Amino acid sequence: MSDVVVVGAGLAGLSAARRLVAAGKSVTVLEARDRVGGRTWTVRMGEGTFDVGGQWIGPGQPRMSALVEEFGLETSPTFSDGRKVLDLRGRLSSYTGLIPRINPWSLIATQIAMWRIDRMCIQVPIEDPWKAKKAREWDSTTVEAFARRSLRNKDAIALVNSAARVIFGSDLGELSLLHFLHYLHSGGGLAKLIDTHGGNQDARIVGGAQQVCEHLAEACGGVTCGAPIRRIEQSEGGVVVHGDEQSWSCKQVVVAVPIGLADRIRYTPPLPTLRDQLTQRVGMGATIKCVALYDRPFWRDAGWSGEGVSTDGTVGVCFDNVSPEGQASLLGFVVGAPGRGWAERPAKERRELVLSTFARWFGDEALSPTDYREADWAAEEFSGGAPIATFPPGSLSVMGPALRAPVGRIFWAGTETARESTGFMEGAVESGERAADEVLEALNRN
Ligand SMILES: Cc1cc2nc3c(=O)[nH]c(=O)nc-3n(C[C@H](O)[C@H](O)[C@H](O)COP(=O)(O)OP(=O)(O)OC[C@H]3O[C@@H](n4cnc5c(N)ncnc54)[C@H](O)[C@@H]3O)c2cc1C
Repeated sequence: MSDVVVVGAGLAGLSAARRLVAAGKSVTVLEARDRVGGRTWTVRMGEGTFDVGGQWIGPGQPRMSALVEEFGLETSPTFSDGRKVLDLRGRLSSYTGLIPRINPWSLIATQIAMWRIDRMCIQVPIEDPWKAKKAREWDSTTVEAFARRSLRNKDAIALVNSAARVIFGSDLGELSLLHFLHYLHSGGGLAKLIDTHGGNQDARIVGGAQQVCEHLAEACGGVTCGAPIRRIEQSEGGVVVHGDEQSWSCKQVVVAVPIGLADRIRYTPPLPTLRDQLTQRVGMGATIKCVALYDRPFWRDAGWSGEGVSTDGTVGVCFDNVSPEGQASLLGFVVGAPGRGWAERPAKERRELVLSTFARWFGDEALSPTDYREADWAAEEFSGGAPIATFPPGSLSVMGPALRAPVGRIFWAGTETARESTGFMEGAVESGERAADEVLEALNRN
């Protein structure tokens, strides 16, 4: 019998396991996939390495920065020199710097929206958003309803929606206003979440983010991969964690799977109703990362930064993705509503939709990549979507207290349970370390 079984070898589970191992506990880490890393996943394409999952880190993410340093990894800044593209409700324009060239009224409305959102989000406690003074009021509406009431400018609403699609993989109409404000507060505000330099897209890890998980797995003494967990059975004497063919006994268990997938595991005895009803409500966003390789970064030569934002098109946002090894690449995100049901569309059509957007923005050379690959996270059985789970109205204010609350010998980790930088790799690490501390306290009590 181990002291602890950790279910899920993403950043959260591995961070929990490493802390427990460092405290002298025996730990078994069980992972459904045949690889560690979960929502971090690095692939080799052409002459470069590319993250098709979590990629960027930014200032104010001390845990990820410390891991990068500890494991002797380096970061490479995101390229953003040159003109950017704005595809606003079908109207194409370009700009340099931070301010897009749009109708002044729309610009003012967008700026006011951002100020207003930033003022509101600091009223939501990062640890316990359900304790916000206006928690019930803000949780009773979608962000879309709020935006329509208070912005009254179609361009501004479209721009906020496109930011939401990228950040949440969901449209404004799917998101509780309370959840939206909490997420922004936890991540340092809207501007930080969408900014490149100095923001959360500041730099990538040379060689890929998945390496952090591989190093963590090594530090934990290894992971059992190919072990999807189906049932967790608690009794007074301990816990039995059941896979398809094998079972593992332990004293405590950390469940570090995305919260939206935690209810695919059966629990004996059943979970408290508040927890069960919470997991019934949350759902994963839709994010497809589309990586196109080219012989050369032709957009740079033409003065483009490679950054593009579209409010209504298939590709929500695009970045220059030239790898630190020098492999030329563009990265497109299909996010939110355009990404729902993506896997059911013919592969040829999907590819053409993405490449024709790149061509509309940066020229026809974009139509002839040397390689092209998509990572559709909704089609991943053990992710169910990406980048994060989102909360619809009426869930966080009422059922939020069940998010992290241990259930007997079961402790919850995963970026969605983080108290800081929730949704990000940083938050995943924080959540794992917090869950490990809770387990250590429980082990010391018994
Ligand atoms: C496309 C995309 C882009 C992103 N971009 C960024 C970014 O640029 N910067 C950033 O900071 N964050 C980004 N994120 C978010 C970041 O990747 C996640 O916040 C983080 O990796 C989540 O880690 P986690 O350990 O909480 O969950 P996960 O990584 O999802 O780990 C959960 C693990 O549990 C396993 N599992 C699931 N069910 C079972 C089961 N029944 N039994 C056993 N194992 C199971 C899964 O296989 C997985 O390995 C992005 C995510 C995606 C997908």
